[in-house]
Amino acid sequence: MDNFYIFLSLVLLLLPLFFAFGWFAARIDLKTLIKHAKSVPDGLYKAIDALIDRKTSIAAQELNEVVEQNKLDNSSNVTKYALVLSLGRLYRQRGENNKAILLHQRLLNEPDLNEEQYHRLQFELGKDFQSAGLVDRAEREFEQLSETTMAKDANELLLYIYQQDRDWQKAINTAGKLSHDATTYQFEIAQFYCELAQAALFRSDENSAIDYIQSALNANRKCTRANMLLGDVAVKQGRFQDAIDAYLKIEQQNHEYLGMVGERIYDAFASLGQMHKGLDVLIGYIKTFPQLDLLSIIYDKSLALYGEEHAMETLLELVRATPNLTGIYQLLGVKITNINPLWRADTDMMRNVIGRHVQKTVMYRCRQCHFKSQVFFWHCPACNRWETFTPNRIET
Ligand SMILES: [Zn+2]
Repeated sequence: MDNFYIFLSLVLLLLPLFFAFGWFAARIDLKTLIKHAKSVPDGLYKAIDALIDRKTSIAAQELNEVVEQNKLDNSSNVTKYALVLSLGRLYRQRGENNKAILLHQRLLNEPDLNEEQYHRLQFELGKDFQSAGLVDRAEREFEQLSETTMAKDANELLLYIYQQDRDWQKAINTAGKLSHDATTYQFEIAQFYCELAQAALFRSDENSAIDYIQSALNANRKCTRANMLLGDVAVKQGRFQDAIDAYLKIEQQNHEYLGMVGERIYDAFASLGQMHKGLDVLIGYIKTFPQLDLLSIIYDKSLALYGEEHAMETLLELVRATPNLTGIYQLLGVKITNINPLWRADTDMMRNVIGRHVQKTVMYRCRQCHFKSQVFFWHCPACNRWETFTPNRIET
């Protein structure tokens, strides 16, 4: 019990001391704060106010004055460097790329920058060049950074530039450098190889095309585009069974892409004199995967092989199984010749209305950014991602 009273007395004695220490500490902090506040130039506050009011021109002017007049004392090299970065971004945002370039170039010549600051400024300069459309100069700046602390950011922008330039080999190398456990870039690398294969196929260099296709499949064995190209090379070389094998393998990779090779599958079978078999394969696919864009080709080939009545029956069966706008539009077109003449004009009118609606709403769509198009893209022109387009046109 005695010990407890001694402890209590000690606490009561020391309590005012703790308060006193706290009070002194707060005073010291406040003093430092006031001292720092006094060393901040007015222009900075004016720039912040202008930014709040979305007056970027005034903000840029005020920040520029702070940097130009060297109102910051010598100890604030870091502050000046940070200010230049912000001002540069502001210039770029306003499209004043020349001002950003001059600003960054000038600071790069200053001797007291450390290595990290130097590289960051070089990166910003690269971005200035890129914004100004001087892609070659941007590329040079970013390439110099590929082994520095700015490597990741620089390589990401280089990858973008190489894709815009369609320099697929450099894109492959850069994507390889960027790959790590969390992000492997395997989708992209496979697509870059497919681009090389496509180009080789255009110049009839089939051996190179096959090598690139193999590399694409090594990067991503689910790359349907690689199998499409493998089939195309085989067709070009007259190896139609190989072409069929390559196209049909797409079913295991991702069956949604089968609609894109419907015509090619049929043509390869036809080249072997097996038209009926080719048509049966397509009908089998659409029955299993009704979303495939195969209705039109099935009707056309059925018409050519079996005549109008049979083709219409096939179409009717498929549309009834999975009714959709495109199918109904096609069905009306086929049925119109046999329809009661009293109804023909009205049916034609309805078909035209549906047709216009189909044209407006049935499209390919990017699953990432929802960009819509009547044309399929492997590389979305809006968000620059690969394989994000729906492989079949859908109602949007
Ligand atoms: Zn997109």
